[in-house]
This record gives sequence, C-alpha cells and structure tokens, in this order.
Amino acid sequence: MIRSKQITYTRMVLVVDDQELNRDVLEMILEDSYKVICAENGKEAIALMQKHCEELSLVLLDLMMPVMNGFEVLEFVRNDEELRKIPVIVLTAEKKAELKALQMGAADFITKPFDMHEVILARAGRIIELSEGRKLISAAEKDKLTNLYSRNFFYEYANRLYAYQPDLHMDAVVINIEQFHSINAVNGRDFGDDVLRMIGREIHAFLDETQGIASRFEADRFAIYCVQQPDYRALLDRFQNKINRFTPNVNIHLRMGVKPWKDNLDPVELFDRARAACNMVRGDYQNPLMVYDEDMRMREMLNQRMLNDLRKATEEREFKVYYQPKYDIQCDPPRLSSAEALIRWKHPELGMISPGDFVPLFEGNGLISVVDSYVWQEAARQIARWRDKYGFVLPVSVNLSRADVYDPSLVDNLTQLIEDNKLEFHHMKLEVTESAYTENVKQMLDVVGCLREKGFQIEMDDFGTGYSSLNMLSSMPFDVLKMDMKFVRNIEASETDRRLVMLILDIAKYLKVQVVAEGVETEGQLQILKQGGCSLVQGYYFSRPVPPEEFETFIQREVSQEREKEK
Ligand code: C2E
Ligand code: MG
Ligand code: MG
Repeated sequence: MIRSKQITYTRMVLVVDDQELNRDVLEMILEDSYKVICAENGKEAIALMQKHCEELSLVLLDLMMPVMNGFEVLEFVRNDEELRKIPVIVLTAEKKAELKALQMGAADFITKPFDMHEVILARAGRIIELSEGRKLISAAEKDKLTNLYSRNFFYEYANRLYAYQPDLHMDAVVINIEQFHSINAVNGRDFGDDVLRMIGREIHAFLDETQGIASRFEADRFAIYCVQQPDYRALLDRFQNKINRFTPNVNIHLRMGVKPWKDNLDPVELFDRARAACNMVRGDYQNPLMVYDEDMRMREMLNQRMLNDLRKATEEREFKVYYQPKYDIQCDPPRLSSAEALIRWKHPELGMISPGDFVPLFEGNGLISVVDSYVWQEAARQIARWRDKYGFVLPVSVNLSRADVYDPSLVDNLTQLIEDNKLEFHHMKLEVTESAYTENVKQMLDVVGCLREKGFQIEMDDFGTGYSSLNMLSSMPFDVLKMDMKFVRNIEASETDRRLVMLILDIAKYLKVQVVAEGVETEGQLQILKQGGCSLVQGYYFSRPVPPEEFETFIQREVSQEREKEK
C-alpha cells in the first residue's frame, strides 16, 4: 500500500473548474495521491497542459466554464499531437454532455455533485493506469529505428492473422544484411542505423502496396509476413537496388529466405524455416535468395539426427580418419611429401557421411572441436606409428576450424599431442581456411603466430575463396598456400583460369611460401602446374583419401623407390 502511494504521489493531475468550491473538493480528494494543479477556465487549462505536458498524468475537466468551455478544450486537445496523449476525465451534471464528451476523446466522466470520494479516486487511478499501459505498449510495439513491429508484437499479430483470416495465404520472408557487423565497424554505427532505417522505409512502402505486416527481429534481421508474391527475386532486387542507390560508395548485400504458406504451419514455424533458408545463402553473393523446399526439410532432419548422434559416434568410434597423399611433382618420379588427414563418419544406419555434410553443421555450434581433437589425436598417433614402422617421418596435415582458434587451450593441447607421441612440431602441419583469417584478423594473427613460434607449419587452406588482399596476405602468418581446387578444375580448357593459377604461383613466390594445388585429377592439369613451377599437388590423380592401411602402399612404394635409387 505504502509502496503504491509513493509511486503515485509524484504524478500530476490538473483540475479545471470555474467554481472554487469544486476545485477545493477535488484537490482535497486527490492531494494525498497526486500533485494537484488547478485552472479556472479552458484557456488557463491549455496553457498549463502545454507547460506540464510531460508530467501531467490526468486532466479533470469541467464542461461549463467561461472564457473557453470544456468542449472547446477537448476539441483543441484532440488536434494537438502532444496534448492528446494526456487522458481527460470530464466533470458534468448532464447525461447528454457525457456522451458528447466521450465522442470527443474524453476517457471517462465523473458526475456532479461529487459524492463518493473513493469512486472519484478509483476512476482517476484507473484512467491513469490504462493510459500509461497504453504508452508502454506503443513503445514496445514498434522498433524505434524502423517503426516496424517488435518481434513479440509481430508474432502476436501474425498469429491473429493466421487464426482469423485463414484464407489469406501468407508467406514468411526473412531478410538479412551480409556482414552487417563489419559494415558497422568500418562505417560507424550511425551509418549502420541509416541503412536499417532505409530498409525499414522500403518495407513500409512495400506493405502499402500489398497485405502484410513486418518486423525488425533483431540487429539486421527483418521479417515480413505477406500475401504470396509472384516473384521473390524481384522483391529482393527491389530492396537491393534501393540500397545500391542509397549507399553508392559502400557495397552492401542483402540475402533473403522465403517459406511459402502451408496450411498446417503457424507463423513461428514458417519463420523458423524462412530463417533457415536465409542462413543457407549466407555469403552467397551470386544467389542471395533461397525458397525453402522439401529437400531442405530433409536436410534439416538429417542435421538434427547428426547432432543427436554425435556423442554416440565419438564413444563408439564411428569417425574414421582417411589420408590423402601430397606429391612433390618437381621430382621425377613425383615424390610423396606428406598427407592430409580427412575425417569420415561411418554411421551405422546412414552409411558413410562426408565431412562436407557435417563439418559446417558442427562448425555452426562449436561441436566441431570434439571432432577435430579426435582427428588430431589419431593423426599424431598415426605419424608416430608410421615413423616407428618405416624409420622416417611422413608429415601429416590436419584441419583446424574457426572454433578451434578461439579455444584458449588450443596451443597447449596440440603441444601435448606432439610431446605424447615424441614428434617434432613440423611433423604435424595445420591447415586453416583462408576465410578464417579474414573474419577475425587480430585473433588469428595472435593464435596462428603463437603456433608458428612453437614450430608448427601453417597451411592456408582453400586459398582464393576468402577475400584477403595482397596487403593482408603479406602480414599473415603462414608457410604454405593451398590453392583452392576451383582454380585447377578448368585450367586445361580455360586460358583465364590458367592465367589465374600462374598469378597465384607468382603471389606465392613473392610471399616466399610453397604452393599446394588441390583437386588435381588429370595428367594435363599436372603438366600445366609443373611447368608453372608449382611443387606440391594433392588430388585424385594420385589418390582419393584412403584409410591408413591402404595409404601404407604409398609409403611402401616410396621406400622401395629410395632403395632402387641407392642401388
Ligand atoms: P579441404 O581441407 O580443402 O580438403 C580437401 C577436399 O578435397 C577433401 O574433401 C578431398 O577429398 C577433396 N579432394 C581432394 N582431391 C580431390 C580431387 O582431385 N577432386 C575432387 N573433386 N576433390 C578432391 P573431403 O574429404 O570431403 O573434405 C571436405 C572438407 O571438409 C575439407 O576441405 C575440410 O574443409 C573439411 N574437413 C575434412 N576433414 C576435416 C577435419 O578433420 N576437421 C575439420 N575441421 N574439417 C575437415
Ligand atoms: Mg584441408
Ligand atoms: Mg582445401
């Protein structure tokens, strides 16, 4: 009780009445709970309302007054954007006037003569509560930046549309900005806000033309629930073009995921799928639109299954490490120089699953570290086993994922493996994908720099798929550049691709690092690379990744070739 009195005490109420007695009575009733100010006529009332616009919680307004009567005050207030937010209770003795006042925007009425004090206090309290609740709601209902619905209200209204207007077949559309955090970081938050506002405006314009509602869910994620559109590519282009015109000097790319209406899916389920579709095209600047279909549902179910089964798979040792040789082609005959360890999942029911199917999934939630440390352990033991059996060390590369780089115990764990198996650091090479370097430059430089200082050799994987500039490359710590296989694929047929490969070989020469060409499948590709000065090659031309037992034939062949030479 005391608490509520303390809270309500500071609220301000304006009493407007030309009769002094009435003002005194009302003041007496209200003054324990509110700060009361008084006016004798409408003109004074308006002046006080304007002065205390922000503080006033309520106006009690007499209708019959000289100078400016209550109806004129109501009329004035109704047309003033600020003043109309303050609720007004009219004081009247006439039944007919009550209805008119309510139609003119009064929130309630109190009949004269004033009798029950408690009733007056309760009415004033209730109207204030209602009006404040309403203000709170409208603040939370809309996102300030874009004036689109906030997430909760959006779902509330979407659910109502879904329940009460089932004939409106509404689709879920999700729009995201690529690399929004970098755009913010590079151009400043104000610029980022401008971009969001601009998209908000274009969504409003779109909704003026069609039936639907929209929200900014969070940061740069927009949701539109709208009646089926004939062409979503055109819709995405519309937003993209608007952005291009708005920010001609900054490259901003949008992506869009759509889940078309389906009778048994409610808005939450629709938007989950639209978001999944939108995530699928992350980073795909060529095809930034994805419409969710049944294949994706199957894919999602498979993903769920793999997530559920991961634990069991590690316990039952369902993961197998395969090895693919890398050859030095500048020797004649080519010499086995090292191997790459590549994971496979032998699932008891789903069969052999390739890393392309589960690595990105586990990378998304950090579980990849479990898989990776298993592979590192297996690979380290394998290097030691082959060393003990054949008397020389064949270095093996293992893959690191982004999540590993953020693990503070990474350096210690890898060092421990080297020590446990009595290896030297350069026996186990570490492959880090190029895009990981460009995503978080500082962290990468620190961690990879530290690993290199220990003595590990770093291979930059998938080179050409990230976006490192020459300038960045020269300051990045790595020893070997692994040219992505897309460059090699067409070098026989395409002059442009051949030139690109030569350019990469030149860059490597400039940086004084070795190059591994990945995905070499034919003799023709091999010869072009050899002539271009590329020394190391990995690909089906020599072998697919194979289990360790099978890989031993390459080692044995190497051993016997050495013996031949010695003879
Ligand atoms: P990556 O590290 O770039 O590995 C090379 C991929 O190219 C391997 O695919 C390999 O089988 C394939 N490949 C090699 N030669 C050829 C060829 O001549 N033609 C074609 N078409 N493909 C060739 P794989 O084994 O399916 O692995 C795919 C990717 O999965 C790897 O790309 C790597 O990014 C990731 N990955 C594999 N094992 C691991 C692991 O233990 N940990 C992590 N984090 N990622 C892994
Ligand atoms: Mg690799
Ligand atoms: Mg690679």
